[in-house]
Amino acid sequence: MNMEFAERVRRVEPSATLAISNLSSELEAEGIDVVDLSVGAPDFPTPENIVQAGKDAIDAGHTSYTTSNGILQLREAIAEKLTNQGIDAKPSEIIVTPGGKMGLYEAINTLIGGGDEVVLLDPAWVSYEAMVKLAGGSLTRVDLSPYDFQLEPGLDDLADAVSDETKLLVVNSPSNPTGAVYSDAALEGVRDLAVEHDFAVISDEIYERITYGVEQTSLGSLEGMDDRTITLDGFSKAFSMTGWRLGYIHAPQPLIDEASKLHSHSVSCAVNFVQHAGVEALSSRTDDAVAEMREAFRARRDMLAELFADHGVDVPVGDGAFYMMVPVADDDQAWCETAIQEAHVATVPGSAFGAPGYARISYAASEKRLREAVERLAEHDLL
Ligand code: PMP
Ligand code: GLU
Repeated sequence: MNMEFAERVRRVEPSATLAISNLSSELEAEGIDVVDLSVGAPDFPTPENIVQAGKDAIDAGHTSYTTSNGILQLREAIAEKLTNQGIDAKPSEIIVTPGGKMGLYEAINTLIGGGDEVVLLDPAWVSYEAMVKLAGGSLTRVDLSPYDFQLEPGLDDLADAVSDETKLLVVNSPSNPTGAVYSDAALEGVRDLAVEHDFAVISDEIYERITYGVEQTSLGSLEGMDDRTITLDGFSKAFSMTGWRLGYIHAPQPLIDEASKLHSHSVSCAVNFVQHAGVEALSSRTDDAVAEMREAFRARRDMLAELFADHGVDVPVGDGAFYMMVPVADDDQAWCETAIQEAHVATVPGSAFGAPGYARISYAASEKRLREAVERLAEHDLL
């Protein structure tokens, strides 16, 4: 059959993060020992109490469909969490999704179509661009690289980029791929622009619990933001639950009502017993496990920055998430190719995030493996 594919899918490339991680798995399958620092997945097991809650939920027969937007118990727990972050959230304003990615997809497809303008802060996580393109939106990009990836010094650039034509801005703090946590002044600057030009903001807060010595402020908690913010969060990162696929969006009721149509016609609902495990994850019983992982990430970040500095590479470190953008070579794609094929260290080219000249490293790997990675890169004259 001569398959003619929809223009929509021809607009995008496969996810660069997942593509490299797949390549790394293929090399591993050939018997090559690859230090995989490509994908952003915590290397810890899911905390035991969450695993047990998932098993108990299966045993209790929670295996059928749930209410499309998610079980009330979980939406109540999420609303409580968001309320503690200063967001005025009701369970009815939440959709529980199979992974935060699906929440993002639903939000973007509910708001964006036919050339609507979406503004991204570069470097930006790979899937924002792809989802906007799939939805038929147009992209305007603001480069924060000259400002060590911080937003506050780049606010003037953002002000120049937005206009009354702007429909949506995506903010991700703590940031993937830079680890930057935006200051309150930066977020207030975003708020002022959003109110002035009347655009919506997606605040991707999936790394909200992974911060080192700073507090992350939720954009939706700022005055003037409650009726224009879509807050995205998920369980993958904070609770090491990437494979469980659980996330959510909170947004003003009219947007949720529209997005629910997409949700009910596509995924129907998130997995029933996984939602029950999610209730347990949000309980205070998980706090210690989250704190332990956070401390491990912090130690790895500090160790890695020192190791790079020992090799004369000055890496801008952020105060959150578990990524670093390492300045590499003008041709970051070629650098990453050599790194994986010859040094057997998997990283993601900065160009995939709109930041050529860098490679993204996920330090969600053991200190031993991180040390090995730097040694291998140095041995192959890549540092
Ligand atoms: N947002 C950001 C910034 C991410 O890095 C990820 C990572 N996958 C997601 C959203 C979505 O994660 P998930 O679908 O696993 O919840
Ligand atoms: N968000 C993670 C990353 O950036 C997981 C992969 C993905 O969903 O892109 O590596």
